[in-house]
Amino acid sequence: MQSFKIIKIMDIPIELHITFLLLLLAVYYFWGIGGFILYLFLFSSVVLHELGHSFVAKKYGVHIEKILLLPIGGMAIMDKIPEEGEFKIAIAGPIVSMILGVLFLVLSSFYDISLLKINSMEYSLFSTVGILNIFLGLFNLIPAFPMDGGRILRALISGKIGYLKATKIASSIGQLFSMIMFGYGIISFNIILILIAVFIYFGAQQEYTALITYRIFDMIKIDEIMSEQIIAVPPETTTKELVDLMFKYKYMGYPVVDTNGALIGSVSFEDITNVSDDIHVSDIMKPPIVVSKYGDFNELINKMNNSERIYVKDDTGKLVGIISKTDIIRILKIMGLKLKDIN
Ligand SMILES: [Zn+2]
Repeated sequence: MQSFKIIKIMDIPIELHITFLLLLLAVYYFWGIGGFILYLFLFSSVVLHELGHSFVAKKYGVHIEKILLLPIGGMAIMDKIPEEGEFKIAIAGPIVSMILGVLFLVLSSFYDISLLKINSMEYSLFSTVGILNIFLGLFNLIPAFPMDGGRILRALISGKIGYLKATKIASSIGQLFSMIMFGYGIISFNIILILIAVFIYFGAQQEYTALITYRIFDMIKIDEIMSEQIIAVPPETTTKELVDLMFKYKYMGYPVVDTNGALIGSVSFEDITNVSDDIHVSDIMKPPIVVSKYGDFNELINKMNNSERIYVKDDTGKLVGIISKTDIIRILKIMGLKLKDIN
């Protein structure tokens, strides 16, 4: 589904999901301009909460793709968090919310704006935003992995029992909490709570599976799975000569190496369709995707994108192997996975 970028803060795009915009319209429809303003303050608070996580994550060198706002809350979409940074990254969000909460409550004791009236209950802007921020901070501290509190729990216990076991425990607690939330959401007709519960339940499961996969991939070394049979071509090879090679060796792609044996490109069957016979491969080759022979399967998956073959170099820079997409798919198949499961 669609989302819209509205602004960039700390080099991080902030995006609104379309369902978030629909909710905004609904709020305006039911509660008028007062509800609308309250919603804007609340959503800015959520952005600041997520920026809190992102700010600390950046200190650990984590790349943050974006902050996405959904009706059930915000999330900073970032690369894998380093184990040593998890505690600080996770706690930063709730700390921001708590500080905001206190600030707004203090402000409201001096000055406040009456905003809207629901069922004869008066809601003032600053006190309501203050209370909501405190609630946001506390709610996120519930140890229901993958919520912040669950991450904090995992960070606290992983030193003693190991990361994998800690994740398993945190995920189980997260799922237990999600079931309680789900039940309570049903009884109280709270759609948002039900959605959050479902989100937590599957999120916990998915994170655990992803971690196991990561650990297994870590053990598969590139030099164990690469093919060492390399048929390389010089840059002045013509497309006609390449077609002859394809018939002879049945490989659909070839590394292009210069006279010093350095890998300078990659050429495949797709590159030579629609070009004339006498074109040199140096004119149509693509930049090769290269990994180190000492790397592991995680690195391979991260780098491969959509390329059909990946070249392997040793630490002197010499081309020592090739891994094709078919090889990767075969390994995943053995493990009962599909490419789309891990990307
Ligand atoms: Zn958070």
